[in-house]
Amino acid sequence: MGLFDWLKPRVEPPPPPPAPAPAAPVDLDALAARVRRTTTWLAPVEVSHPLPAGVSKFGGAPWLGRADDGGPAGWPVCPACKVPLTFVAQLFCRDIEALRLPAGHDLIQIWLCEEADCPNVAMGWSFAFWVFCATTGDGEALSAADDDAGGSVTECALVLSTHDELPSYHDLAAPELAALEAAQSDEAIDAAWRPHEGSKVGGHPAFIDDNAHPVCGQCRRPATFLLQIASDERAPPRPAGSPPFEWAPHGLEIGARGTAYFFACLDCPPFAVDTVVQGDAEVAGDG
Ligand SMILES: [Zn+2]
Ligand SMILES: [Zn+2]
Repeated sequence: MGLFDWLKPRVEPPPPPPAPAPAAPVDLDALAARVRRTTTWLAPVEVSHPLPAGVSKFGGAPWLGRADDGGPAGWPVCPACKVPLTFVAQLFCRDIEALRLPAGHDLIQIWLCEEADCPNVAMGWSFAFWVFCATTGDGEALSAADDDAGGSVTECALVLSTHDELPSYHDLAAPELAALEAAQSDEAIDAAWRPHEGSKVGGHPAFIDDNAHPVCGQCRRPATFLLQIASDERAPPRPAGSPPFEWAPHGLEIGARGTAYFFACLDCPPFAVDTVVQGDAEVAGDG
């Protein structure tokens, strides 16, 4: 014992940690209610007559705006390789309640660079998506499409339907998944905890491969899932004996029968869309 040790405050040993409380049972109903989201399915139907430029659709004549509204002014070229882009789809907020865009914007357009040598191609894929958001306002004149700019996407109207859906069970925390597996059969879990796989707005991304949910580069929070566009449009559950795949009528080939997922942080300007593309590896190369 040192000379002045008695001057030091007596240090009580820390109390033993409380015995861990038994884990609260997972309330599966509350869990489902917390993570359930509304999604709007975009079922494309090929049209026999061209649609106007001011409606939500795949392909055909896009809404083309002024230079100062955020959208493309005239037919856009690829910012990376300067080749005219292919118009894929456009969605107006007035048509789709589930569509979430930055404040003041009411239109999102998806375009595609199909130039094989484009330096901006997504890793491993021979194409790159470009996304524009615009403020069209009400009753503004819509410019006609450029007749010279063709498109490989077949014009389709959208049959919209709204559904509730749960995320993939792969996205649950381990205790939640364990509780679910204790209460339900694998088949029941697989049927209920599976987001819709076709083209849709809002809800949960239906990843073909591993969860690839991007994080905002500025605030580091998960980016908001905006929409996904799929090569295969049939809604699960698929009837027994149905073919493993059917091309959607828009004809957009997203890699190996894949899906493109679009995310953005709605809180951090400037608005930047993160695109994730996934394909079915089992069918890659046989189509
Ligand atoms: Zn390009
Ligand atoms: Zn952010």
